[in-house]
Amino acid sequence: MKTFYILFILLIIGIIGAGCTANESSEQYEINHAGTGSDVATHVADTIKYEVQKTEEEWRSILTDDEYDILRDRGTELPYVNEYYNSKKEGIYYCGACGQPLFSSEHKYSSGTGWPSYWKPIKPSAVGEREDNSFFMTRTEIVCSRCGSHIGHVFDDGPEPTGLRYCMNSAALDFVEMDLSNTDTQNLSNLDKNKTK
Ligand SMILES: [Zn+2]
Repeated sequence: MKTFYILFILLIIGIIGAGCTANESSEQYEINHAGTGSDVATHVADTIKYEVQKTEEEWRSILTDDEYDILRDRGTELPYVNEYYNSKKEGIYYCGACGQPLFSSEHKYSSGTGWPSYWKPIKPSAVGEREDNSFFMTRTEIVCSRCGSHIGHVFDDGPEPTGLRYCMNSAALDFVEMDLSNTDTQNLSNLDKNKTK
């Protein structure tokens, strides 16, 4: 019975650690983004210099412990008990660290995984990708292209038209409710004015 209990605990830890993998196959994904020129998603290496640069001490001073764990320590929050997974409100999801607009409610859908999921970012250039080989699997990590903070992962089991599932952490995002019918969501600098961070 004790052995069973230990195995159960290890299983739970594994599920939480892996995160966002409910529908994932073990294949390595080739993510192809639509778009041309500067609108193409940037492949972000660890060595890249981001527009927003802060020391980890500075990030700790402006983020809550939960935010820091996800955004800077690449953690994964629990499914179904996070803030936005089930939200259907209209508005923009910003990077919780630097305030860059990352996702729109127009591209959000119910993936059934317990994490907020989108079939594309608000603009391909808003996010960067990084190979993540943790937990004995290869996944594609999604980071904010302006500050390099970890937001979640992308998988290729999403809905049409992209077939992608951007599986994000609520704690890495700040939501601002707004009427998008009269908003130019492709003008990121314009959207940034709504942000106070
Ligand atoms: Zn950011």
